[in-house]
Amino acid sequence: MPQIDFTKAGEEGIKILSEVIRINTVNPPGDELAAALSYKKLFEEVDLKPELLKPSEARANLVVRLQGKGKAGPLILLSHLDVVGVEREKWKYDPFGATVDDGFLYGRGAIDDKGMGALFAELVLLIVRHKIPLKRDLLFVACADEEAGGKLGISWLIENHREKIFAEAAINEGGRVKLNNGKVEYVAIQNAEKVPYHIHLKVRGTPGHASIPLPDNAIFRLAKALAKIEEYKTPLKLNDTTRAVFKGVAELDPASPTGFFARNVEDPLIGAFAREQLAKHPYFNSILRNSIAPTIFKSGIRENVLPSEAEATLNCRLLPGERIDEFISELKRAVGDDTVEISFRQGKAADVSPSPASHEVFQALARSTIKTWPGAKVFPFMSTGATDSAELRASGVACFGILPFPLTEADEARMHGHDERVSLQGFAEGLAFMYRTLEEVVFA
Ligand SMILES: [Zn+2]
Repeated sequence: MPQIDFTKAGEEGIKILSEVIRINTVNPPGDELAAALSYKKLFEEVDLKPELLKPSEARANLVVRLQGKGKAGPLILLSHLDVVGVEREKWKYDPFGATVDDGFLYGRGAIDDKGMGALFAELVLLIVRHKIPLKRDLLFVACADEEAGGKLGISWLIENHREKIFAEAAINEGGRVKLNNGKVEYVAIQNAEKVPYHIHLKVRGTPGHASIPLPDNAIFRLAKALAKIEEYKTPLKLNDTTRAVFKGVAELDPASPTGFFARNVEDPLIGAFAREQLAKHPYFNSILRNSIAPTIFKSGIRENVLPSEAEATLNCRLLPGERIDEFISELKRAVGDDTVEISFRQGKAADVSPSPASHEVFQALARSTIKTWPGAKVFPFMSTGATDSAELRASGVACFGILPFPLTEADEARMHGHDERVSLQGFAEGLAFMYRTLEEVVFA
């Protein structure tokens, strides 16, 4: 195997990243074409045959394949080209300037998700340059439209170019390398996601002049229904991924109350109490149950007119494998009023079971964690939000989410926030981490 200087390779990756950050791909409108073309040029320079797959004039996905010996199914390195918008006046640095200051590269997409794309591109360059033989095909796939639901990105690719992205497994965003007090404390590899549903509540009332109130007021009745839903606590449940999460939490901080409750999350005597305690933490709460968050409330047309209807939207995230019809029945029972109409629409992600932590890609990520950051813990992780992995898992690909740069909680919060950044050292470490992973599962 070639000896790689990861500091030097990291610098080259940062150059690639800087160029892509300078191409504005805020979605909407996305317009990822220029970013896709910048990767296309990079790959053509090393005699690869990248393919632009365009759902429309200004939108583009890019796929490039490194041929392997076919001893295992292809592996996708997946990232997305689009980014979320910026509040420019709240940034200290130009969000599209790719400024380097004090060891950090600043710009929208530095960690979500142009950073991963540039890191994966650098891996491809290293493989080509060192003529590393591969046991399986390796695909670099950079998608459009992830931040707006993936309709013109991953979903479009699966629907229109299934054969070009056919794979056994994928490494995508969605996990974490947690930096705490200058040390990597743990690596969380995402292998499951909650399943989003938009649930719609509608109440009809008799319209009329508000000077004569009527007993069927739509706003009062909808408010009552929502209050009952708030009181109703969906049951706390565990699955294989969350069991592993709590095992990891217990090991990380054994002496704390959280560590104690995590260790006893299934204890026959105190398990129920432990789960209740853990659920006081918003993230644990969301991975322990089907969650309900009202996001829209609409009614009324004038101050003096009784509304003929009132509507509310609940953003609900079901645990994988839960049945939506049963969940709706639970809600109806909680509301206890047949005049409240309840309907639903599924969000972008399909309901699929988690990708197994026993998969060789997960195991390789776990081993290269130890090689890169000795002493770091590794555990599987369930996202409460949805990424492109949801669609891909539904199409039969085992997906593992990682964000390979060590990040403190504060830096992680810059994702979708202000002054998003990646440290130059973190980028080089992430590169070494991913290279070691490919060494196990892709290099022949
Ligand atoms: Zn992202």
